[in-house]
Amino acid sequence: ILNNIELLPADALFGIKQRFSQDNREPKVDLGIGAYRDNTGKPWVLPSVKAAEKLIQEDPTYNHEYLSISGLPQLTSGASKIMFGEDSTAAKEKRIISVQSLSGTGALHIAAKFFSLFFKEKLVYLSTPTWPNHKNVFETQGLKTSAYPYWNDADKSLDLEGFVRSIKDAPSGSIFLLHACAHNPTGLDPTKEQWGTILDEIAKKGHIALFDSAYQGFASGDLDNDAFAVRLGVEKLSEVSPIFICQSFAKNVGMYGERVGCFHLIVPRQEPSVDVDSIKKAINSQLAKIVRSEVSTPAAYGAKIVAKILNEPSLTQQWHKDMVTMSSRITKMRHSLRDHLVALGTPGNWDHIVNQCGMFSYTGLTAEMVARLESNHAVYLVSSGRASIAGLNDGNVEYVAKAIDEVVRY
Ligand code: PMP
Repeated sequence: ILNNIELLPADALFGIKQRFSQDNREPKVDLGIGAYRDNTGKPWVLPSVKAAEKLIQEDPTYNHEYLSISGLPQLTSGASKIMFGEDSTAAKEKRIISVQSLSGTGALHIAAKFFSLFFKEKLVYLSTPTWPNHKNVFETQGLKTSAYPYWNDADKSLDLEGFVRSIKDAPSGSIFLLHACAHNPTGLDPTKEQWGTILDEIAKKGHIALFDSAYQGFASGDLDNDAFAVRLGVEKLSEVSPIFICQSFAKNVGMYGERVGCFHLIVPRQEPSVDVDSIKKAINSQLAKIVRSEVSTPAAYGAKIVAKILNEPSLTQQWHKDMVTMSSRITKMRHSLRDHLVALGTPGNWDHIVNQCGMFSYTGLTAEMVARLESNHAVYLVSSGRASIAGLNDGNVEYVAKAIDEVVRY
């Protein structure tokens, strides 16, 4: 019964990681996986995380008991505050439901399971391109995905016209997955004005917005700024449809492997005669069943650390500094790479590298160029040409620029 099981290709990103670790050449540079590295190329444990860990372990009530099914309340409430803002009307109106998840992917999984139970017939629209795992997560729950244009390859800009056309053409009530900030893989976000247009069109067609927020604080270094699209969405869509938000703390707290995240659902505003509490109660019971079946109870250790950071003002302050440290080093590396390419006279325009934001740059390098970067220069990135800028540092950026120069001219 096992003999005809199809062999699937290895996950592209983790394949790169493996080839990189087996590569004995020096220098070698990993621009594949989206994880922050410091200026010496090492993973960085944020000072705010170290301080929070110390506080937790010194607490006399410290233990490793199970959390409740919906997670650590101090995490979910703190997470909701940074996502929707201190003055959120939806929060004041008690329309937000939050449960802890296994990082951002786990939150997407809860969303997918929820859709498969209650909106099975709806199409889930994903940007072209998008994080490849999106398709995976929704399709493994039996949902059908479709695509909306996002990236205009010719001038490396947002294809707003194509995006809006897709919103208009999609069957009313479809689900649109929107990257809240620092779009992966392009590093290109709509402007505030463009977000207004996109969300107005989504509202007009009665679509459902699913925000994937994996990089809050990473795009600009500022949590409020990076939550702009989500908050505008909540404002514009609350009269129309539920809004789903998948929040990851992998990148902005640098706790990739600890799997800290939250799933939020905003219940639309109801007629006064409708009993919102009973709607929320029913939804909570369904979410509890989903979480129980998937993980029984959420992971505790990372959640305690993030909850401390979100609720202890001195740690929150330190965390804000840590996010600026990460985002500004990435910005500096964007400029350094672009400047080296310009100085080398590398054919093409490289300004998009500094105009894009977040962890990644969609470099425009072709799959052939990427393959040559790996085989001839030991510089690793995904075949789409997406480079994790966090892998660059003062010690390797010139080397990478020279390698790019060589493959572009080849
Ligand atoms: N969404 C996007 C767009 C991402 O880039 C990622 C991480 N690469 C995730 C979700 C999920 O990340 P995690 O599960 O590690 O929080």
